[in-house]
This record gives sequence, structure tokens and C-alpha cells, in this order.
Amino acid sequence: MDYNKLLDGAYEKLGEISGEGERFEVPKLLAFSEGNKTIIKNFQIVCEKIRREPQHLTKFFTKELAVPASQEGERLVLHRKLREDLLNKKFQEYVKDYVICAQCGKPDTHIEDSGHGTRMLICEACGARAPVK
Ligand SMILES: [Zn+2]
Repeated sequence: MDYNKLLDGAYEKLGEISGEGERFEVPKLLAFSEGNKTIIKNFQIVCEKIRREPQHLTKFFTKELAVPASQEGERLVLHRKLREDLLNKKFQEYVKDYVICAQCGKPDTHIEDSGHGTRMLICEACGARAPVK
């Protein structure tokens, strides 16, 4: 299977959602292995770029990859050897589900707790509201 092709496909999908005009570029996670661990060294910076709580993204990775993770300063440590491209592919899914507005494709959103255990993705650009997992 051509992994790069798959990755390109994911990029294209995001591009489609964004539509015309300036396209939001998903920041890239920079990861390396250290023994049996994988360290995302720009974790904090990336979270700031997409304006999401590091804890939220950590939880996502823990769940999606079934791997224990802990934040150490600006870095995220995942307790297994993982490929950087896999991490970025998962991260793109995260951005698509929790950052990009499905209506207008802009990343100017935030997540609001609407009570009853449901959370909404609120778009600051077009006002769209959508429940998130
Ligand atoms: Zn929107």
C-alpha cells in the first residue's frame, strides 16, 4: 500500500472541506522514537496553533492509538514506537473532527460544553454549531 498516497488523499479531503480561498494548513507533528517511546516534540506548539487543550488531544491519541501518553513540558510522550506519518494521519482526523468547521471549512472554532455530557463545536466565522464526539 502506498502510504504517501493515502496521506495525500487525507490532505485533499481537508482541502475540499476548506473550499476556496485561503486553505487552512494542518500543522505537522514532529516525532521521533526513543527506545520504546515516541516523542512528539512540538506538541505544545501544535496545540496552540489549532487552539485546542493539550489534554484533549492527548486523550484523543490515547484512545485512538490505544497507547498510554503523558505530557512532559512541551512534548508528548507516547509509550510505544509509532510512525510519524501514522501520528500525523490521526492528527489530521482530529483536526477534521474537532477543529475545522464542517459548514465553512474554517479553523476558527472552539469547543463548548453544552451540558448533559454533550459538547459542541462552535464556529466563530459562520456561527455553525455541531455536536462533537
Ligand atoms: Zn463555520
